[in-house]
Amino acid sequence: MIVFQKEKDIKKYISDIKGAHKRIGFVPTMGALHEGHLSIIRKSKLETDVTICSIFVNPTQFNNKEDFEKYPVTPADDIEMLVKEHCDILFMPDIAEIYPHHMAFTLNFELGYLDTVMEGKFRPGHFKGVVQVVKRLLDIIRPDIMYLGQKDYQQYKVVEKMIRDLHIPVELRMAPTVRESNGLAMSSRNKRLNWPARERAAMIYKILTHAAGQLSYLSVDSIKQLSLEALRQIPGCEPEYFEIADAATLQLVSSLEENKPVVICTAAWLDGVRLIDNVLVL
Ligand code: AMP
Repeated sequence: MIVFQKEKDIKKYISDIKGAHKRIGFVPTMGALHEGHLSIIRKSKLETDVTICSIFVNPTQFNNKEDFEKYPVTPADDIEMLVKEHCDILFMPDIAEIYPHHMAFTLNFELGYLDTVMEGKFRPGHFKGVVQVVKRLLDIIRPDIMYLGQKDYQQYKVVEKMIRDLHIPVELRMAPTVRESNGLAMSSRNKRLNWPARERAAMIYKILTHAAGQLSYLSVDSIKQLSLEALRQIPGCEPEYFEIADAATLQLVSSLEENKPVVICTAAWLDGVRLIDNVLVL
């Protein structure tokens, strides 16, 4: 695996790859890698010629300073895992490399509705930072395919809109959520939870799947209320939202329509760590 830290070095290498007509798969991450990230690397390796992973903890997408400061950083472990997966290239820039103009928002792009619900509503400024960094990374890497995880479903939809609105020539593909054996969605933030807390956190997925099962016989409103109540019953857990939305548009729904997939999304604090998860109901 080749590790690049400088934009000019990786750009030169990418020009050579493109000259050889090789297809580039790109997996952006914030590091503290786990099996969820690695599953995306494997998918990219199967579907493209050259896989590039980036590790960059993007300060502009953290609406909470403490969350940024406590975000786990494990570069040696990350590199070891990527080498084992035979990832071709790792891009690990520092903040000045990504933001030479001191993190100023210069991207002229309206997030619109997607920024007003769920993650957009509860993390003001978060998606603005996400599109800023993703656009910057896409400009540098110019991949054929970019891979994002279903774990951050709303982020996928925001990036999808940006790619569409700005006519960026890249294909977006979604990778399924990888879970611990107890159902807890893998997340770098789980590293901040002790083992008993991870067992309690696994209830979040159980509540999501239970809600999915209730869709055939309970109203959307009742399911939301019951699920929020169930989340509050988990010791140390404070839910932020539990929503059922159209899977294509993320418009919140009040009833189900035939042949319209929905996504059930939730965010909850557990022992001071913010966790998100979702299930798709097709
Ligand atoms: P992050 O490092 O958390 O920014 O995540 C980088 C990418 O990995 C994003 O596209 C995430 O959606 C994806 N991802 C994170 N956790 C998982 C998981 N448990 N399963 C699959 N993909 C994931």
